[in-house]
Amino acid sequence: MQFKALFNVAQRSHSARSVVLWMFAAVLVVQGLLFIPNLWLYEDDLMGVLTSAEQEKLNAQFERLDNVQQISGLRAQGRLLGATVYSVASGDTLDFGRIPSLAPTLGDIGTTQIRSAAEADVVWHQDSPFGDLIVSAQLDITGVRSELQAYALRLLSSAILVSLFVAVISLLSASHYFHEPFKRVVELLRRSRLEGVKEIKRDEELQDLDEFSGLFDEYNCMITKQREAGLQLKLKQQTLEYQAHHCMLTQLPNRLKFDEEIKRVVPDALESDQPFALFLLDIDNFKFFNDQYGHDVGDQMVLELARRLQGMMRSDVDMVARLDGDEFVVLQRDVVDVESTHEVARRMLSVLSQPIEYRGFTLKTTASIGVSFFPDDVTLHQDGSTDESQHWAIMAEEILNNASVALQEAKNAGRGTFLVFNEAMRRRITERMRIEEDLKTALIEGQFEVFYQPKVNMQTGEAIGSEALVRWHHPTMGNIRPDVFIPVAEESGLIIPLGEWILKTACQDTLRLREMGIGNLQVAVNISAVQFTGGDLLPMVQRTLDETGLEPSLLELEITESAVMHDPEDVIRSLHELSRNGIGLAIDDFGTGYSSLAYLKRFPVDTLKIDRAFIKDISRDSDDVVIVEAVLGLGKHFGLKVVAEGVEDNEQLDFLRRQGCDIAQGYHLSPPLAFDQYAAWLEDWNRERAKITAGQEAAEPSSVVQLHRLPGGRSA
Ligand code: C2E
Ligand code: CA
Ligand code: CA
Repeated sequence: MQFKALFNVAQRSHSARSVVLWMFAAVLVVQGLLFIPNLWLYEDDLMGVLTSAEQEKLNAQFERLDNVQQISGLRAQGRLLGATVYSVASGDTLDFGRIPSLAPTLGDIGTTQIRSAAEADVVWHQDSPFGDLIVSAQLDITGVRSELQAYALRLLSSAILVSLFVAVISLLSASHYFHEPFKRVVELLRRSRLEGVKEIKRDEELQDLDEFSGLFDEYNCMITKQREAGLQLKLKQQTLEYQAHHCMLTQLPNRLKFDEEIKRVVPDALESDQPFALFLLDIDNFKFFNDQYGHDVGDQMVLELARRLQGMMRSDVDMVARLDGDEFVVLQRDVVDVESTHEVARRMLSVLSQPIEYRGFTLKTTASIGVSFFPDDVTLHQDGSTDESQHWAIMAEEILNNASVALQEAKNAGRGTFLVFNEAMRRRITERMRIEEDLKTALIEGQFEVFYQPKVNMQTGEAIGSEALVRWHHPTMGNIRPDVFIPVAEESGLIIPLGEWILKTACQDTLRLREMGIGNLQVAVNISAVQFTGGDLLPMVQRTLDETGLEPSLLELEITESAVMHDPEDVIRSLHELSRNGIGLAIDDFGTGYSSLAYLKRFPVDTLKIDRAFIKDISRDSDDVVIVEAVLGLGKHFGLKVVAEGVEDNEQLDFLRRQGCDIAQGYHLSPPLAFDQYAAWLEDWNRERAKITAGQEAAEPSSVVQLHRLPGGRSA
């Protein structure tokens, strides 16, 4: 082992440091304990040597003396500083030089007394020419002291060296028996982590790491737990991922998944030059089933239709996804030719129209399909400004939009059919986009005008009011029909300010009629679904009435059934509030929507407007006759007024009047008119009516006015 490595161990490891220090201190202390008696003995030895040397030197001096008494004349020399001598034979006590503190008595022989670091008194027995002497000498012991110090220093340095040696040995063993294996363990753990967290196997390599087996067990246990937790998490993530991308009812991919898929398919198709077709399907009148039979039945229908669609497509190539409630999308890949795709669409229609048996119900529905081809129906311009994935996303969106346009047109074309996207549709989309753009300025620049189509009481001939119908005088495209721009205004949300403007204008114009002396006439204003759901309809109506000062009873709001189907509870509440305020409510286009009687009962409705589609063929189509009669019966039952829209000729008028219909509206009486024309028409009508009534009363008293003879009636 290198010294540096060892040093590192000692420096970094607290335990190694402690071991080294403790060992060092312990060995040092032990040696110290052993050396102290050694020092004492050595001191004794040194004193012994010093004493016998001085004894000899003193004896040599005694030999030069003639008698004992001359001892007191001796001088101190060498290490002997002075002495007191007692002669056993003569009993004399004599001294010379410095006098020691110890008395030279027999009992004190061998006694040593240290006076200071430099001096000591020693008592000894001496054989001399004068017989036995007891000498108490004062000695200079500086030599003994320095020798003793040198000796102690030698002992200490050797003790330190030994302790250091032992410390290094213990450091080496600590390093060898603990740090080295520990480093290997750390290395093993690190390798396990880097290699993807693997359990540590106890093979031969690890045999000498026995004492770490507990650690390995714990580590392995932790890894296993971690792995289990990881698996659980992964499973959870997969479940969440699946749920985020699938419809839980049908297990079909949902809109998110479809969006991802189509963005992947678009570049694939371009690269492999394999076109694909997109079918957008919508179940006709799904809402009706949902509302009429409950959501459970609705779900069952969706489930069954999803199964059928999936069954007829190739599961490994094509994709069937559920986008929304009753909206499915099918992606048919590797399209051979247009005709085969048409065939697929026809098969879909047929498969989806097979009745569904559920809980004793036989549910029969149809679907509408919009088809779009890729790449044929998509504009493939790649501009440098967008990155590739964005470019695919734009194309994916375009193809779905195309299918959606085709679907819408298929629905408009009478449902239960499919339409393939074509250039005419693209033109219509472009036109629609232009309309949306122009609508924004139209309101600001006052390009709208409200027209009024009179309504007449068929039994009395009285003009009771009108329906307000908005007109758009486009600066370059001429007059644009509301059928065209109202849906666009609804989509863009512009219907909210536009609707408010129409209502306000209608209220103001109605008041102007009164000011002109034409009478107290009603006005009916169309309210679109978006105004119910998106706008604060209730306060808006209230505000308009307050601002204009029109009595609520002169205002009627026309709403279609579909407008009130979306959010029935909320809508019903708003309708009741409006009704409480005295505002009339009419159900527009009655008979074309769901005509749910259950709803009708809950609405505070005053008027039903029979859709003009039923009036149109009333003289030819017996079904229409039945429907009109049914609506009239319904009206009577619920105590509602019934307005017949789109009355175009006398025949229709006569029929409706005979059936007991209250009010008529239609070209036969008058087309929608600008305000001034409307005012003029009213004056004409009232004048003529007065004349006829007067003439009739003279001839045959009857309250029934011959409407067809009145002005404005086309056949009149
Ligand atoms: P609607 O509410 O059913 O309005 C009646 C439509 O039938 C009007 O078309 C009217 O001009 C037309 N009509 C009236 N008499 C006859 C007739 O004898 N024969 C035929 N064939 N048609 C007749 P218009 O004005 O083009 O409005 C179309 C639709 O646009 C309206 O249908 C309504 O849904 C919407 N609309 C019109 N004005 C407004 C409005 O101010 N606000 C809202 N939200 N929608 C409006
Ligand atoms: Ca209407
Ligand atoms: Ca209508």
